[in-house]
Amino acid sequence: MTITHTVENQPPPLADVNLYAIDKPLAEGLAREGGAWGKADVAALGVRVGSAAYQETIRKANATLPVLRTHDRYGNRIDEVEFADAWHELMTVAKGAGLHSLPWSDPKPGAHVVRAALHYVFGQGEQGPSCPIAMTFAAVPALRQQKEIADEWVPRLLDTHYDRRFIPAHKKSSALMGMAMTEKQGGSDVRANTTKAAPLGKGGPGGEYELTGHKWFCSAPMCDAFLTLAHTEKGLSCFIVPRFLPDGTQNRFLIQRLKDKLGNKTNASSEIEYDRTWARMVGPEGRGVATILEMVQHTRLECVIGSTAFMRAAFVQALHHVQHRRAFQRRLIDQPLMRSVVADLAVECEAAVALMLRVARAFDEAQAGKNAAFARLATPVAKYWICRRVSQTVLEALECFGGNGYVEDGPMARLYRDAPLNGIWEGSGNVICLDVLRALEREPESRAAFLAELDAAKGADPRFDALVSALAADLGKRDGTGEMGARHLVERMALALQASLLLRHTPHEVADLFIASRLAHAGGLAMGALPAGARIDPVIERAAFDLEAVRTRGKGEEIRVLPIDSGAQARVRI
Ligand SMILES: Cc1cc2nc3c(=O)[nH]c(=O)nc-3n(C[C@H](O)[C@H](O)[C@H](O)COP(=O)(O)OP(=O)(O)OC[C@H]3O[C@@H](n4cnc5c(N)ncnc54)[C@H](O)[C@@H]3O)c2cc1C
Repeated sequence: MTITHTVENQPPPLADVNLYAIDKPLAEGLAREGGAWGKADVAALGVRVGSAAYQETIRKANATLPVLRTHDRYGNRIDEVEFADAWHELMTVAKGAGLHSLPWSDPKPGAHVVRAALHYVFGQGEQGPSCPIAMTFAAVPALRQQKEIADEWVPRLLDTHYDRRFIPAHKKSSALMGMAMTEKQGGSDVRANTTKAAPLGKGGPGGEYELTGHKWFCSAPMCDAFLTLAHTEKGLSCFIVPRFLPDGTQNRFLIQRLKDKLGNKTNASSEIEYDRTWARMVGPEGRGVATILEMVQHTRLECVIGSTAFMRAAFVQALHHVQHRRAFQRRLIDQPLMRSVVADLAVECEAAVALMLRVARAFDEAQAGKNAAFARLATPVAKYWICRRVSQTVLEALECFGGNGYVEDGPMARLYRDAPLNGIWEGSGNVICLDVLRALEREPESRAAFLAELDAAKGADPRFDALVSALAADLGKRDGTGEMGARHLVERMALALQASLLLRHTPHEVADLFIASRLAHAGGLAMGALPAGARIDPVIERAAFDLEAVRTRGKGEEIRVLPIDSGAQARVRI
């Protein structure tokens, strides 16, 4: 200890805070979009993910990263990835909260909205586990295209226990599912896949096959089974590849190595080889892309949720920091230019949350047989835009910390590294925009559904009305804007959808700031370059929170944080 080591002007730890209680856009959106019944579960998860103990679990999971063990000491292949205990604890929480299952196990109105809110709260902690959780969730509708396989696998996938054991799935009540599509020569263009499938017997839907080939990206390789694509004589088909054969021995699922990634470090992503690997066909032969697209549409929703969670996590950290850090005799939050940055971040996050929850409701509606056309178009539009905005948002939030934001002790550096990922997988930016063009061309009812949603806010603001009129004209053109104009078109669609939601559902100042800066371009290009004279005080007041008032510790709320007991039922309830 030296006399110079006096710690001053550093904020108190942002810990033991209920992440739900400090999030007005979430609370209002959850109620508005049909998820009011899930409030208690979302709040309980907010207490857990906001707790100091959970933050320590995240730290430990990042301190001990997954390791591949290809062989045992005798030279036998084992193809096993070892994870830190902390990883398994995070997985236990995710499965226990039903992030992977809710709309399938309890398919009532609002189930997708509640699940989105839960996953969004979970995602403000560590998102490595979100990868196997999202794939398990999304695999269900694809598997249901092959009844006998769904009957065998779906009950295990829906179980809310987490079973970390690497044993045959038929000996477990709970299982996880991954997806292996990308090959070296083509990820977006899966039709370039070279993996071959040879029938064992008569083949066809539900039939047994042997696969030979490779997959260049296969995340969460310790999942119990994977949906994958391979060519038969009739074309690219979808298969389920379990890690173990029906006789209990290991399937030939050869993990070559783990990727050394920019971020998403706690999650393992691997390269695998299929060498006469046992598989069963899911869905019609030669229709593999259509079968697996069921899964992809749902994982795109996951990307929207994950990126919104990154934005919110970064913003809350920044808001907390500037509320406590002082420079030039004033708190940072009282410096006019910092207020501009904070207000801009607040508006960006609120627009993202509103869009995320509306798209989640579109999944509820589609599941109930209503307005699936809106979900078809709104999902890629939201995926593209939220995943574009997340890195910029996290960057600005990080810079609010000054040097501390660049250091690994806090969460900002990790958030910054993780932020680009959702933009890449499940359709990179350009591919998503081309998908929007495809939907507009082939499914014209999706255009009408999208415009109807925008029209709900018609007349509320002339700048918004002008954008909607221009968009309606562009979307109606026979040859559209062409591929080159697709990014601009999708960006405008996303902004219009966000503006429509904010105009209808948020205080006037939030919607006005969004429209002035994003639609009317009254400010500059960087975040915080807001138009002079913009009314930002109410926006900041809406976002700000008093740390002492929202602390959970010592107020009885910590009892909601049930102990993490690996393998035990961990569903959190108040
Ligand atoms: C951490 C991580 C984990 C992953 N996990 C999995 C996994 O578990 N399973 C799995 O199957 N895959 C996984 N992926 C792979 C991911 O889905 C692919 O990387 C992604 O689909 C892009 O494919 P690609 O890498 O082959 O890029 P490419 O297809 O070569 O695309 C490169 C770029 O070109 C653009 N592009 C492509 N086509 C066009 C076009 N027609 N016009 C204009 N631009 C175009 C794309 O938008 C992209 O920006 C993972 C990736 C990462 C980074």
